[in-house]
Amino acid sequence: MKVIIIGAGTGGMCLAHGLRRAGIEVAVHERDRTRTSGLHGYRVGISPNGARALRSCLPPELFATFVATTAAPYTTLAMLTERYRTLISIDFADLPHSSDAPEDGEHNVSRMTLRQVLFTGMEDVITFDRRFTHYTRHADGRVTAHFDDGSSDTGDLLVGADGASSRVRRQYLPHATHTETGLVAIGGKTLLTERSERLVPEQVRHGFGMYFDRRGQFGITHVMRMPWGSRNDEELIARHPGLRFDNTTDHVSWAITTSRSIAPPDLLERTGRDALALAGELSEGWDPRWLDLIATADPGSTVTLAIRTSDPVPAWTPSTVTMVGDAIHTMTPGRGAGANTALRDARELRDRLVRVRDGELSLLEGVGEYEELMRRYAALAVRESLEFMNDDGTARRPVIGPLSVLAQRTGMRIVDRIPPAKRRMARGFQKVRDSELV
Ligand SMILES: Cc1cc2nc3c(=O)[nH]c(=O)nc-3n(C[C@H](O)[C@H](O)[C@H](O)COP(=O)(O)OP(=O)(O)OC[C@H]3O[C@@H](n4cnc5c(N)ncnc54)[C@H](O)[C@@H]3O)c2cc1C
Repeated sequence: MKVIIIGAGTGGMCLAHGLRRAGIEVAVHERDRTRTSGLHGYRVGISPNGARALRSCLPPELFATFVATTAAPYTTLAMLTERYRTLISIDFADLPHSSDAPEDGEHNVSRMTLRQVLFTGMEDVITFDRRFTHYTRHADGRVTAHFDDGSSDTGDLLVGADGASSRVRRQYLPHATHTETGLVAIGGKTLLTERSERLVPEQVRHGFGMYFDRRGQFGITHVMRMPWGSRNDEELIARHPGLRFDNTTDHVSWAITTSRSIAPPDLLERTGRDALALAGELSEGWDPRWLDLIATADPGSTVTLAIRTSDPVPAWTPSTVTMVGDAIHTMTPGRGAGANTALRDARELRDRLVRVRDGELSLLEGVGEYEELMRRYAALAVRESLEFMNDDGTARRPVIGPLSVLAQRTGMRIVDRIPPAKRRMARGFQKVRDSELV
């Protein structure tokens, strides 16, 4: 059996490792020109679901490298107003956790670092600079993937792991569409120094902060403290603005999410200093420390994105083409579940393909079993992620808007004073991050 994977992202590479370890032939084709191309620099939270998938698919020494390259785990989570007033503050030490094993924990990782870890030892499996265009099928079920340089590759199973704009999905399930949530975001990174640390509210200097303003916008901060200690590259970055951000340095990863209805129409085209200036304008009236955090970010680290969500897709008949990750279930970053669901897909599909290898299942049975399970847990993750990140514009309506903001803030402050309600809420956050119940 030969498996062809399109896309060397989170899901595709985890699957490739899992298959190779199982002795199944695998080839990955990636459109990026080199292993360090692309702006893959934002932060990703790997949940227990994701960590278990990595543990199961990666060689043990590579899983250890993954763990060693992650930032210190968070100890707190707080929700605040845009003026840094606390609404809810959660200390993770107060929450029960199953074990201290790395595969049962949360890991904060720079996506570029994770990408490099996942490429390690796979030089003979990945071909870079290969943009997939379409596939053709043969009478015996085998599939040929075609690339824009005129090359092709044939295998028994084609896996689309080519992200949210998947060409595999567009050809295979053209009715599987996405909806724009109407939300757009600007994110960036600010080096963590003694000064910049003070720009983050005290209770989230070792944690995750969420900031809600009166116009329905919200911000996040993640303080990334790398295990090898802080270096100060401020001078270097000042001399070379736009230099690729060094993700091994301690930093604060931040983002502001807003509605298209209040953002300028060209938000997605903004880059570098323009993007930072716009993030500052959108945050007008926010705490001066937040504005300072944005103003002192590395312009080369900015990302802008439109937040989309997959529409529900009716079940389809399994074939020798399948998909993992964002290619089949794009979700808002609301629950931090996108990469983790992609990793779980990789593990579930690998498990079925091992049973195909062992003659326990036919290839179509293996793909069908994976897809049936994946549709269930992915639908939950997509729904939960949308629920948490869905702006219906209420906050910006006259009269009712300020009232709804007041009600939301009062509700949060009440929950903050009732420990069992707070614990229930914290567990709710974990629902799609640490659950294999569906
Ligand atoms: C700002 C932000 C923050 C996020 N934070 C989190 C988080 O905290 N936790 C979490 O779980 N998820 C998070 N996510 C989501 C997560 O990054 C994605 O869900 C995850 O990367 C999906 O993995 P994937 O393998 O499906 O796709 P990707 O990682 O996007 O990989 C797709 C790959 O396919 C390649 N490709 C695309 N088209 C082609 C083609 N035609 N030919 C060849 N190759 C192609 C791309 O270059 C890419 O390498 C976040 C997303 C964003 C935008």
